[in-house]
Amino acid sequence: MWSCKFRIYPAKEQEVFLAKQFGGVRFIYNYLLSRSNEIYEKEKKTIHINDLKKEIPQLKSAKKWLKEINSQSLQEAALNLGKSRDRFFKKQNGRPRFKRKNSKQSCTIPQHFSIKKSKMDNKFLYIPKLKSGIKIKMHRELVGESKRIVITKTYTGKYFASITYDVKREDIPKPKTMGEARGKIGIDLGITSFVTTSNGEKILYPRFMKTSLKKMARASKSLARKKKGSNNREKSKLKLAKIHEKIANKRSSFVHETSFALINENQVIYAEDLHVKGMMRNHCLARSIADTAMGEFIRQIKYKAEWRGRTFVQIGRFEPSSKMCNTCKTVNKELKLQHRTWRCKLCGSMHDRDINAAINILKIGQNVSRTRASLGKGRPEVKPVERSTKVFSSNKKKQVGSMKQEPISNLRIGMHGNLLP
Ligand SMILES: [Zn+2]
Repeated sequence: MWSCKFRIYPAKEQEVFLAKQFGGVRFIYNYLLSRSNEIYEKEKKTIHINDLKKEIPQLKSAKKWLKEINSQSLQEAALNLGKSRDRFFKKQNGRPRFKRKNSKQSCTIPQHFSIKKSKMDNKFLYIPKLKSGIKIKMHRELVGESKRIVITKTYTGKYFASITYDVKREDIPKPKTMGEARGKIGIDLGITSFVTTSNGEKILYPRFMKTSLKKMARASKSLARKKKGSNNREKSKLKLAKIHEKIANKRSSFVHETSFALINENQVIYAEDLHVKGMMRNHCLARSIADTAMGEFIRQIKYKAEWRGRTFVQIGRFEPSSKMCNTCKTVNKELKLQHRTWRCKLCGSMHDRDINAAINILKIGQNVSRTRASLGKGRPEVKPVERSTKVFSSNKKKQVGSMKQEPISNLRIGMHGNLLP
C-alpha cells in the first residue's frame, strides 16, 4: 500500500456539497457512537459494529437529507468508529470522542471515483453524487490501482485528497536523486541536535522552529485576552491555527528531507526506541515540538525503509548508550544531561555526547545482527521473552539466514548486544 496526499480546490458550490458530505459522515459517526455508549450503559456489553451499521438504513428514511450523502461514505463512518473503538480496547488510543463541526473534517470514498484530464491538461477529481470534477493538483504520477480516497478539510479551510493505492514495492516510483545505499549507520535523536550520526555528522533543527515559537507564544497570549464567544476570539483562533499549520508543514518537509537522505545513503539504520508517546506529555513548547519531529521522523524512516528495501532496527532504550565510552565500554555514571562533551576516565578518550551515543547505537545494533546470524547456524533453544528490539524491514527472508529462526523480537538483547538467557 502506498498513499499520496494532494491538494484539491473545490469551487464554491462544490464546497457546499463537501460540507454536506462531511456533515452526514459526522452525523452517522456521532449517532452510532452515542448508540454504542447507550447500549453499553444498559446491557454492559459492547455491540458489534456490524449490528450497529444496521441502523443506518432506518436513519436514512427518518432523515431525508442523508440521501444526498454518498452511502458508502456513511458505511465508512461506521467502520471508522469500529476501528477507533478497537484501538481503544487495545489501549492504543483514548475513548472515541464525538466529532465537532469546527475541527478537521473528513470523509472516505472507497469506490467509484476517478481522476480525469481536461483539454487544458488540468486534472479533476470525480466523486459519487457530484457531477462536476474538483480541481486537483497532482505533484506526482499515479501508479497501480487506487483503492480509496479520503477527503479532508483543515481548520484553516484547505482541502486535501489522500489516495491509497495497491502497488508492489518495485513499482513505487523512485525519486530521481535516489542512489545505491552502502553504509550502516547509528543515529541518536535529541533536543539540541536533531540527528547525530555515528559518522560524526550533526543535523540541527532549522531556524524557523525558534522564530515560529515566538510567533506562536504571541498569538496564544492574544487569544487568551479575547472574550469567549466573540468574533475577535474566532479571528485569533484562526490566526493561531494558521501558525500551527505553518510549523507543521515546515517541520514535515524538514523531517522528510532528513529521513530521505539517511535512507538514501544507508542500507541499515540503527536507532534507539524513543517511547515517543511518553515523551509527548511534556508541557515545554520547544521540547514538545522536538518530540513531535522525532516521532514523525521514526514513523517516516520505518515506512521509507519498507518502501526502499532498507533495514531499520530499533534498539531497546538503554540509558548507557550516551553514558558508555564507545572505545573501552566503561560506563560514566557521573555524566549529567548538561555535559555535552566528556573524557573517559579509564582510556582517556574525549567524547562528544551525541556522537558517542550514535556510535554505541551502531555497535549494539551490529552485535544484535551478528547474534542473529550466529543463531542461524546452531539454532539453540530460545525462549520468547519480553520484546526489547524491533526490526523493520521489507526483506525479512533475505536477512534471516534460516526461515525457522526465532524472530529477533523474541530475543532479549543485552547492553553490549549479547544474547541474554
Ligand atoms: Zn574509555
